[in-house]
Amino acid sequence: QKFVYDFTEGNKELKDLLGGKGANLAEMTNLGLPVPPGFTITTEACKVYLASGAEPPEMRDEVSAHLDALEAGMGKKLGQADDPLLVSVRSGAKFSMPGMMDTVLNIGLSDASVAGLAAQAGNERFAWDSYRRLIQMFGKTVLGVDGELFEEALEETKRAKGVTTDVDLDAADLQRLVEEFKGIVSKETGRDFPQEPREQMDLAIRAVFESWNTDRAKLYRRQERIPGDLGTAVNVCSMVFGNLGPDSGTGVAFTRDPASGHAGVYGDYLQNAQGEDVVAGIRNTVPLADLERLDKASYDQLMQIMQTLETHYKDLCDIEFTIERGKLWMLQTRVGKRTAGAAFRIATQLVDQGLIDEAEALQRVSGAQLAQLMFPRFDEKAATELLGRGIAASPGAAVGKAVFDSYTAVKWSRSGEKVILIRRETNPDDLNGMIAAEGILTSRGGKTSHAAVVARGMGKTCVCGAEELEVDTKRRRMTAPGGVVIEEGDVVSIDGSSGKVYLGEVPVVPSPVVEYFEGRMHAGADDADELVQAVHRMMAYADRTRRLRVRANADNAEDAARARRFGAQGIGLCRTEHMFLGERREMVERLILADTDADRDTALDALLPLQKADFVELFEAMDGLPVTVRLLDPPLHEFLPDITELSVRVALAEARQDANENDLRLLQAVHKLHEQNPMLGLRGVRLGLVIPGLFAMQVRAIAEAAAERKNAKGDPRAEIMIPLVGTVQELEIVREEADQVIAEVEAATGTNLKLTIGTMIELPRAALTAGQIAEAAEFFSFGTNDLTQTVWGFSRDDVEASFFTAYLEKGIFGVSPFETIDRDGVGSLVREAVKAGRATRPDLKLGVCGEHGGDPESVHFFHEVGLDYVSCSPFRIPVARLEAGRAAA
Ligand code: ADP
Ligand code: MG
Ligand code: MG
Repeated sequence: QKFVYDFTEGNKELKDLLGGKGANLAEMTNLGLPVPPGFTITTEACKVYLASGAEPPEMRDEVSAHLDALEAGMGKKLGQADDPLLVSVRSGAKFSMPGMMDTVLNIGLSDASVAGLAAQAGNERFAWDSYRRLIQMFGKTVLGVDGELFEEALEETKRAKGVTTDVDLDAADLQRLVEEFKGIVSKETGRDFPQEPREQMDLAIRAVFESWNTDRAKLYRRQERIPGDLGTAVNVCSMVFGNLGPDSGTGVAFTRDPASGHAGVYGDYLQNAQGEDVVAGIRNTVPLADLERLDKASYDQLMQIMQTLETHYKDLCDIEFTIERGKLWMLQTRVGKRTAGAAFRIATQLVDQGLIDEAEALQRVSGAQLAQLMFPRFDEKAATELLGRGIAASPGAAVGKAVFDSYTAVKWSRSGEKVILIRRETNPDDLNGMIAAEGILTSRGGKTSHAAVVARGMGKTCVCGAEELEVDTKRRRMTAPGGVVIEEGDVVSIDGSSGKVYLGEVPVVPSPVVEYFEGRMHAGADDADELVQAVHRMMAYADRTRRLRVRANADNAEDAARARRFGAQGIGLCRTEHMFLGERREMVERLILADTDADRDTALDALLPLQKADFVELFEAMDGLPVTVRLLDPPLHEFLPDITELSVRVALAEARQDANENDLRLLQAVHKLHEQNPMLGLRGVRLGLVIPGLFAMQVRAIAEAAAERKNAKGDPRAEIMIPLVGTVQELEIVREEADQVIAEVEAATGTNLKLTIGTMIELPRAALTAGQIAEAAEFFSFGTNDLTQTVWGFSRDDVEASFFTAYLEKGIFGVSPFETIDRDGVGSLVREAVKAGRATRPDLKLGVCGEHGGDPESVHFFHEVGLDYVSCSPFRIPVARLEAGRAAA
């Protein structure tokens, strides 16, 4: 096993082994770009170190051999007194990660070699500046000295001299600062700053390995779902110097604008500076375009290199570079981060440039990005004062009055106020407040905190971990860094997509992307619609590519019409229980309370025309497309008054001796229907089997509606779906009755309705006996919400607020199985049921309804197992279309 790779030996595909930085340094080296020579120690070496507490023995020799080669190539030795080779030691994992060790520059400098460096460069000041930087970085990141101590000493030196920037310090000042820094190291660590160059290097390498497991890095990995066992690589890179004077400098750049995707010159440059100076804000940088004036030759070369990189990576790249006395050096590149909007624009621009094809373009965007573009957003131009920033935990733009406890949130929202619930952190007791609030803001916790998890589950805007905002729940106030105090009742605006928190009401504008899907904006050519145009094109690519069809979960004509505008190819789930609410609830009550067959028939007869009318509308809105209607599913108690409320009402009435007959009967029924586990109780197909005439009425309503549409020259395509089937016998009984009703309706109306009957697969037993069930079902629709609930034994209405936060924090799963399909458990049942079902009935139609149908990762899974369609809420349809395209590309 080889633990060390020269930059000439790697390439960009080796990110697992060499980390992102190392792999791309190698790639640039091999492209012939000016990269300072160096080598990369692999992630494998890191893994050995972390497992055993020591570097693998071979690694030390390999490092020595590579260092020898580097020294030979450079014609000087590491830390050589009269002409020192200096190196940087740079961490570089596969994914870049906060909390990992910072880079240490200028390794190899010592009391002995600082004079040599000065003499070689002919620049005393530069040598002492480099040395003080080394002690500062090494002291802080390798030896763990509080960085503030160095900062303070530096500030004090500047103050004493009456200057404001580091470039105003001369060689003598810096030499004194070096002595001071060495003193800080000795005092804080009980040892002197290491003078031996190789020891400096080895200690730095080891510190990089160890930084893999800092608390911050671990937390970040868990939140971003980065595996904990990848390890980091370490890059040792010969130094080039941007701090040699005004003809030197350092900069960062993008090959195109990461916010808009436009081509152009984007970056910052700082003269006479080293390393992070440019991003640390210690002095004012100049726009990259100014480099043309400062150093035309380097500028031209840089532009050319950026062109090369973009053509080579076929994507937007970001880069770090340094100019040493007019000579340009490339220090880093990677495929750059971008906004969601830029991702769409860049993908289409690259297609136009012929750099990538449509299939590749689809891989450059994601459903999550599209979802982000569909949220309404703040009109940033009109934004008021920015109070602070937190973690963008759940997207959206929310405005409301600040409240600091859930009780107030509920109370105020009941009286019609919009509120933002502000807490240090939330816990399950805050649930009601979170439901009542427009958005949630916390000052603690990351993406897996209670607030974040629950808010995402509810689709509510949330900014969490805004640490700079001081939340004082006792005094009901929040203090922002500038000293601005927000009291209860003050209006704040929070942006769950950017994590920004504003004072006052920021106006909200609808997303142009939604306007486009709604048909209110066309993919026209003017500049404002550039994003819409890009989305339009990407959707076309996806639609051309995907195999999965996309349907909507919709219960009424209005939702159905929107779903159609959003590209739905049918309805995968129409929940008929939603047709039993409102003023019809009373009729359902009558049905439940019926003592005699006659009473029940009367109740059903009253419901029939209402149901039928609903279906007529729905079939009309979805004319020509399939509509899957699910027969009544939820437990009946959901249609009755709450047991506690009703008990109290009856008890009070009894005390006044005027108890109402109907309430007493209701209470009796509520008691009779009360179940310990209603989700495992009398619901779904069980209702159809226990309540005579209920399913028959629903089937009749569907059939009559279909017949009416047919006779009106429509093209209704209804599919009748039986929920919660666990065994084929249940389905057979319901089917027999349904077939008979349909035959009656057909005879009476002179139509051939071609209604199909199928079932949901949402119980483990149904999945396990799918082969048998398929004998009585023309289609399966996987009800993955209930299936997840029953496979895991998780109550989906409770878990998110109770123990899921703990599970996520402990890394038991990276994402809730109710959000993304659990491939190994629930997924394998789906996979087997697909196989068994198709073995029985090769033309069995297969789909999924349930939240997973609109979840990007899950859509890929459903594509893989060969379903025919996914069905999701109307707003998720574009996401599902895009992801289905990506899955097939
Ligand atoms: P990060 O991953 O945090 O960007 P880097 O390893 O890229 O850290 O280094 C931090 C800074 O130091 C960057 O600005 C980088 O360009 C600069 N740097 C790193 N190695 C060298 C080197 N050998 N010569 C000059 N500057 C360097
Ligand atoms: Mg860098
Ligand atoms: Mg269900």
